[in-house]
Amino acid sequence: MSEAALNAMAAQYLDLTLCKSRYDDIDIQWYTEGPFWRRTSMRFSRDYKILPDYEIADAKHGKTLKDILEESENLLANLSSYQRTAHRDEKQRVQYLLDHVRALNTRTRMLLGEKMTFDRMTEELYDLTAPEYDYSRFDRILEELNQALPGGGTAQDKIYRFRKQISIPKDKLLSVMQRTTQEFHDMSMAHMTLTGNSMPRVRVRRLPDPGMAFLSILFGYDYNHLEYERNFNLDYPWTVDNVLECIGHEMEPGHLTYYEKRTQTYIDTCWPEMAVVQQFSPSSAFTEGSARYVISMCFDHSPEHRTDFEREAIFRTAGLDEGLAALMPLWHEYCEIVGYGKLEVTRKLWDQKWSCREGAEFLKKYAMIGREAEDESVLHLAADDGHFVAHDYARDVVKEYFNAMTQNVEEQWRLYETICCGHMSMSGMKDKTYRP
Ligand SMILES: [Zn+2]
Repeated sequence: MSEAALNAMAAQYLDLTLCKSRYDDIDIQWYTEGPFWRRTSMRFSRDYKILPDYEIADAKHGKTLKDILEESENLLANLSSYQRTAHRDEKQRVQYLLDHVRALNTRTRMLLGEKMTFDRMTEELYDLTAPEYDYSRFDRILEELNQALPGGGTAQDKIYRFRKQISIPKDKLLSVMQRTTQEFHDMSMAHMTLTGNSMPRVRVRRLPDPGMAFLSILFGYDYNHLEYERNFNLDYPWTVDNVLECIGHEMEPGHLTYYEKRTQTYIDTCWPEMAVVQQFSPSSAFTEGSARYVISMCFDHSPEHRTDFEREAIFRTAGLDEGLAALMPLWHEYCEIVGYGKLEVTRKLWDQKWSCREGAEFLKKYAMIGREAEDESVLHLAADDGHFVAHDYARDVVKEYFNAMTQNVEEQWRLYETICCGHMSMSGMKDKTYRP
């Protein structure tokens, strides 16, 4: 069969994804409508977020969930039959489409009420099953922090106090965000082939929902430029670590760079599947995991380099006690373990092995949620199902894969850029058989 046949199947996948977003409002992370798009009116809200930051209108109408279910099953059958005779250089693309249509099909069944275990859900959506975490690491890090963090009281007291000590004062938030955005932009430019036009405008203001870290407004895009405005919430509890995460991960060289690369690839190839990044899919697990790992690449995987950066760009700009910066490597280690703590809690809640109270007690034991947090707050650790698998565990899968495939960090940057433009495979990264 011809590439045109495959393009028709990919177009069907795209259409089903857009239609499904009507029932699954956070499912579209990024969408490229055509070679360029411009916001032509100022009729949009600065109070809530629309994904992918603009209305896709009638593109999402026309199909019920049951239609989507049936069509995705037919599409899977057609792709499987195409796979049997696919040309060698089409194999990755066909596999990518199969993985993504399977995720779409699973998500549709979930929306129709089907129940499944946590591990099966993450396997079918993201191609990932997180092994059970070594729980002794939670106790070990707690003891290490107890020894290292200043002040008296219990280990938990010290953690809550340290979190306050590395919190960014509201009046310094704008300069911290601007400085960090510029620095990550410069690091991305130094290591990747980028147009350099996609550094977002950075604003800070109070958003109605204090739990919302930021709100993005997309003003347009073309091959050379994503025009974005990022509004960071003054009422969000910003700490040094989540500034680093939010800028490096959400913008450049993380998600915005990925979207820029996907948009260019779509324009270069006309492959319909490149137009969209669906939240509940393997390519989302790739962008989430790699956007975390790429922050470490920015500092050549050296905790000392990262600490120097934090001291200079964040502690100093925010007027924080620079003497505390030396504790940041241990703090980052803790933050990684917190991700796994939350993964374990969401898995046990999903599988009904723990109650909300048990989950909240577990997280409070390690100061992973606020002391005053209600038990029910554990139901809202993340808006997207399987979040900590698609972020934290995915980061470690990406890390192991990158380490196995490359000799040094420069090669990792090239690998990252290549995968951003291609048909990635999460299972192929996991078993290290994937060759971009
Ligand atoms: Zn993300």
